[in-house]
Amino acid sequence: MKKNVLLLLTACMCLLCSAYAAADTVSLTAVVPGEHIVSFTIREHGSVQYGGQIFSGTASIPVQRFGSAEIIIVPDAGYKLDTVTVSSGEYLACDGTAVTVFGIAEDMFVQLSFTESEIRWGEPVYEWSADNTSVTATCTALNDPRIVKTETAAVTGTVLREPTCTALGVTLYTAVFEDPLFTAQNREIENIAMVPHCPVTDPAVPATCAEEGLTEGSHCAVCGAVLVPQELVAKTSDHQYAMDPAVPASCETPGLTSGFHCELCGEVFVAQSVIPALGHAWGEADYLWDDDHSKVTGSVVCTRDPSHTVSETVAARKIILSPTEDQAGLLEWVSDAFASDMFTVQEKNIAAIPALGTLRVLRLPDSLTEIGEEAFAGGSFEAVIIPESCRIISDRAFGNCVHLIYVKVPAGTSIAPGAFAECPNVIIDIVAE
Ligand SMILES: [Zn+2]
Ligand SMILES: [Zn+2]
Ligand SMILES: [Zn+2]
Repeated sequence: MKKNVLLLLTACMCLLCSAYAAADTVSLTAVVPGEHIVSFTIREHGSVQYGGQIFSGTASIPVQRFGSAEIIIVPDAGYKLDTVTVSSGEYLACDGTAVTVFGIAEDMFVQLSFTESEIRWGEPVYEWSADNTSVTATCTALNDPRIVKTETAAVTGTVLREPTCTALGVTLYTAVFEDPLFTAQNREIENIAMVPHCPVTDPAVPATCAEEGLTEGSHCAVCGAVLVPQELVAKTSDHQYAMDPAVPASCETPGLTSGFHCELCGEVFVAQSVIPALGHAWGEADYLWDDDHSKVTGSVVCTRDPSHTVSETVAARKIILSPTEDQAGLLEWVSDAFASDMFTVQEKNIAAIPALGTLRVLRLPDSLTEIGEEAFAGGSFEAVIIPESCRIISDRAFGNCVHLIYVKVPAGTSIAPGAFAECPNVIIDIVAE
């Protein structure tokens, strides 16, 4: 192409030469242009920019002779400069983004062609909608800011953490993009309303004169938060002291010591303690014989309380200590053993029986077998010795013997009921021999 340009220039000069040759004067005049044209052929997928104008397809840009100009190369989005073809490389430099012509001394032809460029994406930018229903992802090519990818993805929300009565619940929002350039986006937002507290009543505590009380309140059974605080209620009054009088113990009933308590609240300051029952304090036993000495009654009276008495009646046995000729005898009654150990065996001497040698004694013959009715009635003797041989003593055999005090009778001898009638002092001594 450079050759074509030179040929065209030579043809013009020949034309000028021939014009002046006709006047016989050879005068060679060279007309030097003030500026040269840089003609651009711009292939598809690009344009150039110069002097505030965009040119595509072709562009003719005048440049001052020996001057310079910078023409910006503008590839379409996704394209880059591929090749630069120039008629004269002497005047041109290209750094890929601009063509610079300089020291230009002739018209020039420049052809630019473009090819697709490889996109280097920058970091995607994600923008959540205000209501968290969508996320718009945007990514710009690093090597060409005009290349921008955008995708808007719908957001799905799931409960990540249930709300409690003290903390909001958390929703997990997720947006998933179709374009693999974008990664799924998550956002956790505390936006689930708290649930109400679970109130439990704190019961009122009535005030007493000992302690302050509390009003009814409530708290949350789950988190323990106080919902209605309990307030102190002042003590009702001071204690009202009252004495608990002592109760004396008796023989059978326990007693109490004296004490103190509050009449209002019942608090005990000095507790009453139990005094054990004292037990009876029995005095000396007293014994009372029946007139006929057949029974004896023992009795004791409590020295603490005379209404407390114990008595026991037992039968008595007659015991006769037989007199001898020179030794006195004895009639006494002996009580049988008392059941209670409060009483002791009792003896009662009724009469001393004089020694037989001192008495007027009726002595009967050993051959006597029976004493008939009134046989010795009215006698003045003081003692009678009935012989072993006598088996029967008849009625009133010794009636009205007022002086008779002692009769010795062998065991086995039958005595009629009235045998000793009207003998006021007689002691009948039945002797086994
Ligand atoms: Zn709670
Ligand atoms: Zn009290
Ligand atoms: Zn008593």
